[in-house]
Amino acid sequence: MDSGVNMERLLLLLHADESGSLPKVALECIESARTLGGQLDAAWTVGLVGGQAGAAAAAIGSCGAARFLAVEGPDFDAPRYATDAAAAEALCLKADATLVLAPATSRWMRALPGVAQRLGGRVDTHVVGVSVQDGAIEIQRWYYRQRMEAVLTRAARPWIVLADPGASEAWGGAPQEVSVETVSVEVPESLRRTTVIGARAAESGAQTIRPDAALLFVAGAGWTKKQKDGQVRAQEASELILDIVRKAQASLGSSKSLVDLAGEGQAVLPFLTHLHQVGQTGSTPRHPKGLATCCHGEEPHVVGWRFINERRAVNLDPNCGWARGKADVLYVADAFEVVRKVNELLDA
Ligand SMILES: Cc1cc2nc3c(=O)[nH]c(=O)nc-3n(C[C@H](O)[C@H](O)[C@H](O)COP(=O)(O)OP(=O)(O)OC[C@H]3O[C@@H](n4cnc5c(N)ncnc54)[C@H](O)[C@@H]3O)c2cc1C
Repeated sequence: MDSGVNMERLLLLLHADESGSLPKVALECIESARTLGGQLDAAWTVGLVGGQAGAAAAAIGSCGAARFLAVEGPDFDAPRYATDAAAAEALCLKADATLVLAPATSRWMRALPGVAQRLGGRVDTHVVGVSVQDGAIEIQRWYYRQRMEAVLTRAARPWIVLADPGASEAWGGAPQEVSVETVSVEVPESLRRTTVIGARAAESGAQTIRPDAALLFVAGAGWTKKQKDGQVRAQEASELILDIVRKAQASLGSSKSLVDLAGEGQAVLPFLTHLHQVGQTGSTPRHPKGLATCCHGEEPHVVGWRFINERRAVNLDPNCGWARGKADVLYVADAFEVVRKVNELLDA
């Protein structure tokens, strides 16, 4: 085990997807690795896994890594715990890594904790920052539904750090051919017991949840409540919401009350699931801007807006939660009218 930071050997562990490209969160981790490499004043290594990992290496050839290692071939194309863990373990050993930075994709979130166990190391997930402070590596992460931020350091090595999407800017350098050292991994039948036959997206949600969108559009339960004409206008609400989300290429979020309605036999918006729920018991998405509509802005909901930089809300009630310092701008207005008008403007 090493102690001083100048003894650290940093490995950036990435996987390509089936088309050979890297997810955005991988590019964000490259940026973090570049900064960290500078702070450690040490050369660092990229380890790639995938069907065509070599091609992915060329795409990030100018990222500043001193060495590129790859485990590739058809066995490593699709995400599968057994082969992913074997590949990651082999790359950690080859690089003799003490610190492993990896994007928190579903693939690595599943495989890397097991790799830490095999290597006798430790793993931290949902990390939003890594840096060197006063001669020690520190990570930042949130606890208790994003209410408390902790700064941690560990003595155990290897230390695997899984970084959440949105925690860093994405690296945007040019492709460059690099020499890639192939690391061979034996794949006995026992590692092939799971066969990936395809990917099926959640029936609803997949097309409307867009983590990289510039705008989060939140729908609240008001959309399905009796309106001033005494009518429930759920069908109209559905059309207006889907229209604005599609036209603005926004990501759709919901309050808990709205997604819970389905279970209570009330009028519902059929495309909403608990995957859309933002808040204390839902998600904490990261978008530059957010617009809440027909949503009251109660604390358990708004806590999920922690990482939304600019917040606006449309509500009939001038005393709703958003008016109490939770939104930058509150439009006291009928969301049906506002969204219809915005859709017309987007058309124009
Ligand atoms: C332990 C716990 C955990 C929770 N976790 C979550 C969570 O993760 N996420 C979450 O969202 N909630 C959560 N809640 C619930 C939360 O406290 C609120 O009950 C919920 O967010 C309310 O949803 P809402 O604002 O959509 O509905 P409502 O409170 O019913 O508000 C509807 C709003 O719509 C407005 N409205 C109606 N018609 C119009 C119109 N035409 N134009 C404009 N405005 C209109 C009304 O003025 C009203 O403010 C949690 C609660 C608890 C106790």
